[in-house]
Amino acid sequence: MRMSLRNAVLVLLGAAFVLSLVPAGFALDRRLVGDLERRSREDLASAPMILKDRNAQRSETLVMHAQAVAGTSGLAEALAAGERERAVALVMSAPGFPGEAPVLVDAEGRVLVGPAATAGALPPAGEDGATGFVDEETPMAVALARVGGADGTHGWAGVSAMVDEALAGTLAGLTRSDVLILGMDGDVVATTLGPEIATELGAAARSAPDSVIEATSTTGARYWMVAAPLGAVASVAFVRGVEQELAVLPNLRTTALLAAGLALLLALAGGFLMSSYLARPVEGLAQAADRVRGGDFSAPITDSGIKEVERVASAFSEMRRSLAARLSDLEDANTALEDRQQRLTALQSELIQRDRLAANSRLVSELAHEIRNPVANVRNCLEVVRREQADRGASTEFADLAIDELLRMHELAERMLDLNRPAGGNSGRCSAAEVARQIAQLYHAGAEETRWPVEIRENGTADVAMPPDALKQVMLNLVENAREAMPDGGPVTIDIRSRGDAVRIEVADLGAGIDDTVLPNIFDPFFTTKEGVTGVGLGLFVAQGLASRYGGRIGAANRAGGGAAFTVELPVAPEAPAAPAAPADPAGAGGPTPGP
Ligand code: ADP
Repeated sequence: MRMSLRNAVLVLLGAAFVLSLVPAGFALDRRLVGDLERRSREDLASAPMILKDRNAQRSETLVMHAQAVAGTSGLAEALAAGERERAVALVMSAPGFPGEAPVLVDAEGRVLVGPAATAGALPPAGEDGATGFVDEETPMAVALARVGGADGTHGWAGVSAMVDEALAGTLAGLTRSDVLILGMDGDVVATTLGPEIATELGAAARSAPDSVIEATSTTGARYWMVAAPLGAVASVAFVRGVEQELAVLPNLRTTALLAAGLALLLALAGGFLMSSYLARPVEGLAQAADRVRGGDFSAPITDSGIKEVERVASAFSEMRRSLAARLSDLEDANTALEDRQQRLTALQSELIQRDRLAANSRLVSELAHEIRNPVANVRNCLEVVRREQADRGASTEFADLAIDELLRMHELAERMLDLNRPAGGNSGRCSAAEVARQIAQLYHAGAEETRWPVEIRENGTADVAMPPDALKQVMLNLVENAREAMPDGGPVTIDIRSRGDAVRIEVADLGAGIDDTVLPNIFDPFFTTKEGVTGVGLGLFVAQGLASRYGGRIGAANRAGGGAAFTVELPVAPEAPAAPAAPADPAGAGGPTPGP
């Protein structure tokens, strides 16, 4: 499963939070419950002590009240005189105390006022007063004080206080618990609890020692109880409901849960901000990497305040820079390779062309050799025959025709031989401009200058790496073709210019130009569009053969303003250490003579 960095951080935070908080929450809850229970039980365990203290205080109060009753004026006298009714009346009319009733006992121990059980509270002989609990059925607290003087004891007077619901309420208030007061027979005397639960818990309370015990009611409610004696006539059980004691827990738990939820939300919000801060530069890096795939190496990279991310970003940046440099090197190398490949292909096809040309040339030369001599012999014979038969009309005409045809065959053979004619004594270099001037001179010598003037333009003086005779042969073929393209006359231009390591010679005319359909074939051997003896279709073939033999080439094109232009490109001759070559014979050692 894949997730974004932001989600991963959030999930991590949430998981860490839950994993750490939930067990801690449970432990805290356990501890809280334990502490609450312990404190509550300890508190409850102190209830008997409180009861004891309260009893002591109460006894003192009761004794004081008893002394007050015993000191009622006239009581001692009435008792001493045996006037019981008066004594009873005096006690009954004495000011009372709330919740207490007067008690009067005569010297013989007869109870004159108060419950009969009061007699059980009489102090031992010699004591002035006593206090205690009496009557097991309806327990009560009694305090008695001696009535009499130095002349002896006349009786006992005091107060009694019932053990009832009021006492239970007071004890409950003091001990912050419910109170259950049981008589010695186990009956519930007074309680702050409901009657049913009081009866139910009464049984357990009777067996309760003075330490805290836990009891469960029939409804499943749990209670803690501790019991303490109330004199010898009753016992008090202090009761606390466990649920009530722990009632604060649900609220605490809800508060804790809310606080935890809020903390989780805050942590997630913080995590979101943190992960955004973390993820933004990483996201920027991912986008830049995507753009690198598309060839864009300049996508911006976001800065990060996190050291590790910053290190990755700068490493990525460096990697991207070197990748771009490598790519550019590779592209350059590729272009160079393509260039080389193209040049190689061109060179290859040129080599093949040259091979073919050389083979053709050899064949043509051999053929020409074989043809030229017999043709010359036959022609000579026919010349003789024509002279002999000069007066015989028809046969002279046929002889002329045969001689013309033989002339044509001779011309053909001569041109074929031109192709492989050795350079003779000429050096391997010459000035193209010089050769052009020689050709112009040839035409000046004839009567052609006015009809076909030859114009020479020069730009640069570099020599070409070709013998002058061979160059003259090439130029003569082109100039001758130009003249033939302009039967009514016109200028022939020879433009010569140096271009780096080559010399470009352009021979142009103002004729009809070359038909597009024949343009691809004009350099083929025996291709001609001319009729008669002039067109044997070898002029351009021979010129191209010579040019390529010396590392040059010839191209043909139609001029925009009309006419054709032939371009010869020849390599520049290397620097000559010796004196420049002697100019070639203007008559042309092996070339054809100009003119019709
Ligand atoms: P030939 O001159 O004997 O025909 P070439 O090889 O010299 O043989 O020329 C071949 C053909 O090229 C010519 O027949 C002609 O159709 C065409 N050609 C050559 N030069 C020119 C030119 N200057 N103008 C028009 N066509 C030309």
